[in-house]
Amino acid sequence: MYYGKKIIFLLASMGCLFVRANQFDHAKIDSIKPTISSAVSTLNATPVSFAIYNRPSAILKQQLSARTAFAAELGMSKQGKSIKGYYFPGTSNKRALVIGGVHGSELSGIQVARKLLNMLQVGGSVYYSVMVIPCLFPDNEEIAIQFPDGVNKKYNTGRYSGKIATDPNRQMPALGHSFDDQNPFDCLGRPIEQENQVLLQVINEFKPDRIVNLHAIRDITRAGIYADPRTDSHGYALGYESDSSLVIEMAKFIYNAGGNVAGNKLDSEPTALYYNDPPPVAAGSFQDRNLHGSSLPEDRGYGVSLGSWASTAVCDSVDGLRSRPSVRLITVEFPGYKRPEDYKDPEVSTYYESMVTLYADAIRSVFLGEFFIEEPTKGCDCVVKKQDTETRLTDRE
Ligand SMILES: [Zn+2]
Repeated sequence: MYYGKKIIFLLASMGCLFVRANQFDHAKIDSIKPTISSAVSTLNATPVSFAIYNRPSAILKQQLSARTAFAAELGMSKQGKSIKGYYFPGTSNKRALVIGGVHGSELSGIQVARKLLNMLQVGGSVYYSVMVIPCLFPDNEEIAIQFPDGVNKKYNTGRYSGKIATDPNRQMPALGHSFDDQNPFDCLGRPIEQENQVLLQVINEFKPDRIVNLHAIRDITRAGIYADPRTDSHGYALGYESDSSLVIEMAKFIYNAGGNVAGNKLDSEPTALYYNDPPPVAAGSFQDRNLHGSSLPEDRGYGVSLGSWASTAVCDSVDGLRSRPSVRLITVEFPGYKRPEDYKDPEVSTYYESMVTLYADAIRSVFLGEFFIEEPTKGCDCVVKKQDTETRLTDRE
């Protein structure tokens, strides 16, 4: 079934080890030093209230064109909590999205998002204009905080929105298909939770070039930074080299400052591949995807993940505005679910506090920096009406 798999894997692995000299300036990145300060500032942004969930995309476009920082209510959780987004203009028109709390139980990942927010508020420019959504499922985060011991137990309190809910990271539309807010169903026809609808609407409207999806992992030997291989809308690989190189540079940034990115195996065989995912194939070959998440009754762990969906180009022949190229999708797996303050030993707590800072700084300094810039239309293989193309280009000015 996997003809030539070994050779393809070797080629893909080489992308992790070798960075083309014309793509990357090592001296530039080596000169960036991690931030040790844990300064917390007040929000240096204008709060705006609008709900993408209710389709006020014109307001979002107006806000973005002003090129000033703003905070927004993007939508509501099922229990009526605000899902907040914070936007910071970069020095370029390239766009990045950072999401925390897809799994509400992974409290440390949400902390990384909030730390990044602090760093961006304190100042200093970044290359990518970035929207940060620190917690997508605030109801689930609240449950996890109420039951701090539950986060490391089997039930995984706060991961799912109830005992019969589908895994929040397995509710995306079919690969290569767009999200339609009038028909919000996933690849198996199950309703997409409204928090994920907010996220998908943000992706539709904001059209990020790259995304960080912040998670946490119980097995700290698997902690690290990973990339999903990008494909066209039919699932054919576009080449993994620049994705894996960006990941390795983010991991090195953390590792060189004493942080834990054990899953990236920087000491032995550097890799940007999550251990459960099929190996990336050479450009032009069909890319296998992992559709099985956690083992849950009635296949509630089965479905398309955000990583697979976002890194696959979307072709919508009916509404060209919903078509998009594949997005560079980085999944961050922070070591351990707990927040630093949840560790009883003060030394351990301090260690994890510095780890949160390091992970956040890798996102700010490397992911949001001018590295491995996406080509404007790579992976967008759709036939889009001329009028739509013009509209999209205008939107991006
Ligand atoms: Zn997770």
